[in-house]
Amino acid sequence: MLYSKLFPKALRQAPKDADSANAKYLIQGGFIHQEMAGVYSWLPLGLQVLRKVENIIREEINALGAQELLMPALQPKDNWLATDRWDGLDILFKLNSKIGGEIALGATAEEIITPLAKAYTGSYQDFPFALYQIQNKYRDELRAKAGVLRGREFGMKDLYSFHLDLGCLEKYYEKIAKTYLNIFKRCGLKAVRTRATGGAFSKFSDEFQVITSAGEDNIYYCSKCKVYYNNELVRAGKCPECKTKLGKPERAIEVGNIFKLKTKFSDAFNFKYIDKNGKEKPVLMGCYGIGTTRLVGTIVEANHDDHGIIWPNEIAPYKMHLIALFGKDKKINQKIKSAALAVVASEAKQSCEVLYDDREDASAGEKFAVADLLGIPERVVISEKTLAKNSIEIKNRKSGKVTMKKL
Ligand code: ATP
Ligand code: MG
Repeated sequence: MLYSKLFPKALRQAPKDADSANAKYLIQGGFIHQEMAGVYSWLPLGLQVLRKVENIIREEINALGAQELLMPALQPKDNWLATDRWDGLDILFKLNSKIGGEIALGATAEEIITPLAKAYTGSYQDFPFALYQIQNKYRDELRAKAGVLRGREFGMKDLYSFHLDLGCLEKYYEKIAKTYLNIFKRCGLKAVRTRATGGAFSKFSDEFQVITSAGEDNIYYCSKCKVYYNNELVRAGKCPECKTKLGKPERAIEVGNIFKLKTKFSDAFNFKYIDKNGKEKPVLMGCYGIGTTRLVGTIVEANHDDHGIIWPNEIAPYKMHLIALFGKDKKINQKIKSAALAVVASEAKQSCEVLYDDREDASAGEKFAVADLLGIPERVVISEKTLAKNSIEIKNRKSGKVTMKKL
């Protein structure tokens, strides 16, 4: 990709009202654009990162045998009445249709997936199975804030599993928990499994929290149980399980959340299967979410310095940020250009994605500042100086280490 053609260019100034590192750097770098509170456009650079995150999730979830589908954001009111969430979920957006009636704007998808799964199954032989989607969700959050960490429109991977018995659900739940840790690791994050309250049907749910000062959750570690607990569970500073006195809480961002729904939604939609003996039994369900756009924001919160973002390798928008530094001598500039294009071509052969800053009217300082801001793992410079040594200069964004490599 030529930087001269990239839409848009990085902004010279950070946005004045940014309340977090992810808002500041993602907006300044041209990854996202704010449309209104909690609503963003994902610009080409940002979309590259988001797609990479989504594809890591796809790879890991597909490997567990779940199948991807795509459900609508416009959802029938009756389905939400059936689960008592039309009035029960305070963040639900409700739309009026010109042809009459009201419609829910999807805040989550249990109200769609449960009747959908019911429509195509019946016998015990149809189970277990799991379905997921990666889709935007809409929530009328009172406090949309911290860039893409809490939006009113945001990306989510939501997975739903369907089982005949609790043992099967619990096994799958544990598999997902393990896979989640792997997904976050591949995204360059250390997430910790954290116990939270489970809602009406389970004692606990599990959250996946990334410890960083930018987080809005507080989590406690019990060194005796070797378990993290969400603040909401902890009473009087004591471990809810073993009652050991807990230390100070740590701030963290919730990047994922998994629940054993059991029969909460299957009961609401009368979703049953026929067992081997011809008897009707309720289907057991689990649901498993990851906030994809929040994940990108979290990656920035956990990986930046005073100059900009430091993308972990696997989700960086490009692997190499190539900078050509031109001088006054036209002949030498021509040589620099050819050398730069040769690097782009040879990297392309090895499937290495390069962002090439080919601008002739930008200073070295300007180009270096953009490279630091965009945070691509490897910065490569070609200039009259490096060509004199028949070399390129390679700088690692994370370590700052500089090496020379022969052309
Ligand atoms: P939170 O506790 O942060 O309000 P939640 O528990 O309501 O989130 P879920 O309904 O379990 O979240 O959604 C699954 C995941 O979607 C969350 O773990 C989080 O990563 C992400 N998510 C939830 N709400 C938002 C939001 N408003 N903006 C961005 N991501 C969100
Ligand atoms: Mg939560």
